[in-house]
Amino acid sequence: MNLTDPIYQNAEKAREYIEALHWPEGPVCPHCGSGDDRVTKLQGKSTRPGVYKCKDCEKPFTVTVGTVMEDSKIPLNKWLMAFALVNGSKKGISAHQLHRSLGITYKSAWFMHHRIREAMTSTDDSPLGGPGHDIEADETYFGKNPDNHDNRMAIRRMNRIVSLIDRKTGRATSIVFNGVFNAETISAYLFTNVHRESRLITDEYQGYKRPGLEFAAHRHVNHTQDEYVSRLDRTVHTNTVEGFFGIFKRGMKGIYQHCGQNHLHRYLAEFDFRYTYRSANGFNDTERTAEALKGARGKRLTYRQPASLAA
Ligand SMILES: [Zn+2]
Repeated sequence: MNLTDPIYQNAEKAREYIEALHWPEGPVCPHCGSGDDRVTKLQGKSTRPGVYKCKDCEKPFTVTVGTVMEDSKIPLNKWLMAFALVNGSKKGISAHQLHRSLGITYKSAWFMHHRIREAMTSTDDSPLGGPGHDIEADETYFGKNPDNHDNRMAIRRMNRIVSLIDRKTGRATSIVFNGVFNAETISAYLFTNVHRESRLITDEYQGYKRPGLEFAAHRHVNHTQDEYVSRLDRTVHTNTVEGFFGIFKRGMKGIYQHCGQNHLHRYLAEFDFRYTYRSANGFNDTERTAEALKGARGKRLTYRQPASLAA
């Protein structure tokens, strides 16, 4: 990723880049889906650049209509740079750093960051795994101590997170359990998100036992007995998902100190995305950023409900 590239410096070059990414076969009307010769480019002194008109529904549009960038006053080259910065490091970047790097207000940077995270939220509902796949499942806690003195005696507000990683494809998906965490809720989550023909690998938590019977196989390590890799089968471990938790926690500690509880699932989605499209899975920074930009479409009005099973 070269931030001196014209697409990061010039709004028109940025627009052309986004158009090529979203419309590989030419402009498509976001209102009715028409394309090809049904769409004409509007040109003229009084016309903004990048405006097209659809001959079928007669509505004008630009490439940002129907994306998280719609209606933004921020120039598109700054949007591209923000997408690149958020996707350019393992742990992400803070809104404060975006604000300084892009020369925009903190409020604008925070807003952009939120929208970019929305673009990075997976819409792939298909379960992980399948025949011959190993799926690691593990839980961790994330939360912060109340910093206000009056709240110091309050119970630490910790959120339980469960992450799943498909070792074969490298895909990661996570959830925040805001409510009850037991065999029943974890079963419901596993059955929805993991293909039954996968081999499930977990720790010794009892809640995995019953759902584990439904998969091709279920193996576990005994973390309470300091067993991190099974002595009988070296492929039985949850080190991959624990590595993911490590990246997540280091990132959250260093960068996202002020994450509100109700936003945690959005931050997790961002880490899931970067992990799924990481370099070890064959994506360089530019390709990862392009995937995030493609995800910007169709997210305009879909502010998802918190990904919790029992709120
Ligand atoms: Zn149309």
